[in-house]
Amino acid sequence: MPQLDLMTSLAIETFAHAIQAIFLIGFASLLMYYHRYYQRDYLRYWSFACFAFGPSELIRAALAGSAMIAPESALSWSGGLQGVALTFQYLAIAFIALGASCAAFNSRPQTYWQYVAYAVSLISGIISYFWLEPTISYVGSTPNAGFMRFLVTGAALLIIGLFMWRKLGSGIGPKLVSGGFFSIGIKNFLVLSVILSLPANAVDWVLSFQALLTVIIIAVVIVGVIIWLLESERNTAVRAIQRAEYLHTHDALTGVSNRAQLVSKIPLFIEYCRSNNRHLTIMLVGVSRFKVVNENIGIRGGDQVLKEIARRLQNFNKQPLTVSRISGDVFAIAFDHLKNRSLIQDLATELQDTLNEPIEVGEKTLSIAAGVGIARYPQHGSRSEVLLNKATIALTQAKQSHQPTITVYERGMDEMYAYLVDMEPVLRKAMRENEFTLYLQPQFDFDHQQLCGFEALIRWQHPERGLLSPAEFLPYIEQLGLSTELDDWVLNQAAAILTSWKQKFGFCWPIAVNLSAPQFQHFQLIEKMQRLLEDYNISPEWLELEITENVAMSDLHNGMSVIQRLREMGFGISIDDFGTGHSSLAYLRSLPINKIKIDRSFVSELQQNNNDATILKAMIRLSHGLGKRVIAEGIETEEQQDMLQKLGCDMMQGYFYSPPMRLQFAEQFIERQIQSNKKPLPPGEFATA
Ligand code: C2E
Ligand code: CA
Ligand code: CA
Repeated sequence: MPQLDLMTSLAIETFAHAIQAIFLIGFASLLMYYHRYYQRDYLRYWSFACFAFGPSELIRAALAGSAMIAPESALSWSGGLQGVALTFQYLAIAFIALGASCAAFNSRPQTYWQYVAYAVSLISGIISYFWLEPTISYVGSTPNAGFMRFLVTGAALLIIGLFMWRKLGSGIGPKLVSGGFFSIGIKNFLVLSVILSLPANAVDWVLSFQALLTVIIIAVVIVGVIIWLLESERNTAVRAIQRAEYLHTHDALTGVSNRAQLVSKIPLFIEYCRSNNRHLTIMLVGVSRFKVVNENIGIRGGDQVLKEIARRLQNFNKQPLTVSRISGDVFAIAFDHLKNRSLIQDLATELQDTLNEPIEVGEKTLSIAAGVGIARYPQHGSRSEVLLNKATIALTQAKQSHQPTITVYERGMDEMYAYLVDMEPVLRKAMRENEFTLYLQPQFDFDHQQLCGFEALIRWQHPERGLLSPAEFLPYIEQLGLSTELDDWVLNQAAAILTSWKQKFGFCWPIAVNLSAPQFQHFQLIEKMQRLLEDYNISPEWLELEITENVAMSDLHNGMSVIQRLREMGFGISIDDFGTGHSSLAYLRSLPINKIKIDRSFVSELQQNNNDATILKAMIRLSHGLGKRVIAEGIETEEQQDMLQKLGCDMMQGYFYSPPMRLQFAEQFIERQIQSNKKPLPPGEFATA
């Protein structure tokens, strides 16, 4: 190997470093361009790495070049510049490491680690500066200077290469990149061993050309990055297509098939049932008042409930053909082995029981009530949409009552459903345009022989059909989930009436308001009631809340604490339609209410049925024993009034005393009371026996 003279050696070195610098800055721009386009953070770090490597090579080129032209003057400042070049190089290594971590963990390294990396490179640069001899680091004269840079960068790149090889995917791109880093590391160690072992003339050759080798390896790394990007773009596209295909047939939340998939499967089931003489049964399962569940435990909690329902349906041990989620809270489950109605009923009951088991959501445990709507092939149709529509109609029916039922589709249900669909916009408009109005029915106190309050009863002043009673529209309000909105309206209206009475008469007669089940179970009922008191500046004992027995009992634990809170706030609570529910006397003891309202059915039967009189007597006695007052509703005749008074009833309400009336007539009623010196009874009288 010929001995290189100093000038030639310096010329080669200048050229090699300059070429390396130009390539690196080119690569840096290319990587930055790709980063902008593909938004991968590791590209940005590696672009910075090339940007940092570039100047360090440029400095080296300048040093070698100036040593060639003016060897004397170069000596004085070469040490400092060497230090700067090395700092840049360490910074580049830091950027490569940060980029590698970014690519491996798919997220940017924490700011903390970034600062550590920059600090380490800066400190290493400063240390090397003081450690370097102030001479040009070409070989033969001072191996010390080059030694550090080859050792540190070599070790770092070996580690980074190995790390990436293990962490990143198996594609050609990542392998080329990590292999590239690894090779530069190996190359640096080879250069080191050359420096230590070979004669100076060989070292000159090796050193002069290793820079060019570095450029070639970096070019391979860049090619690797491009292949990597293309590979990952392709994978992303493939994944997106797979996901889209999955979502086309599956429900993203629960993983069961979706409506579209079910609709396309039903014809196959029908075909199978037809040729094997089987019956297809489609059951739709819907959670009763799922909106309330969502309001109580939040949307995420609601999602958990839906997932749990899907899981239970999938694990249901009666071999369903398929389980699908066809809309918000409605699931479909199909069977082909149910021959007759009683088998269907049994299985649906079992299904209902499975779903009614408590569900744990976070720290809460809740029970849902599921209704089941059923349609069958061939009885109810032979097309997917027809069967699903009929099952939906049956489900709507099943969810109507407070305790959802199992309902098999029957002829005639369609009209009811069609009517409901038509009613929705009409009812919403009625609410918007204030077509509802409150009627007040006076209540009479036997002991004091005077008016003791009113019950607020809603009416709908229909623009075409005239005044409608609740029976004509409340069922639709309930089914359309508008109960809470309507109850809010009634509460506000009643509170406004109380405020105006306070101004007009100087005092108020209490108004009882009916609360629907969704309103009573509304998670913000207490806050709403508190706001109502503040907004209208009224006293809580002027408002009485009527809840029916079944609503109070349906979730005894929660119901009890809501009643307790409302009582503590000062509201009167009475149990409406008492005696018609499934609990009655047994639970009366535990409910912290202050009044019971005996249902109209008892009153109307009173004269014919001796048994009822005995039951009523027991009820009234027990209520009084528990400190609760008793009011009877629906009293139409003097005889009924007398009998109830004899049985110990405290108050009455009914057509005999007065029908429900418009506000203006109720106010005239009050004025007559005032004229005969009757004032509202004090709240104490009202609250205890
Ligand atoms: P309810 O709470 O049991 O109300 C008593 C019902 O009995 C009222 O019917 C009232 O007009 C009627 N009534 C009163 N005295 C007599 C009588 O002597 N004989 C007969 N046969 N009936 C009498 P209405 O106003 O048609 O209300 C029916 C039901 O609608 C109410 O039953 C209540 O459950 C519901 N409702 C009425 N207004 C509201 C309201 O503002 N909000 C809510 N959520 N429900 C309401
Ligand atoms: Ca009532
Ligand atoms: Ca009632």
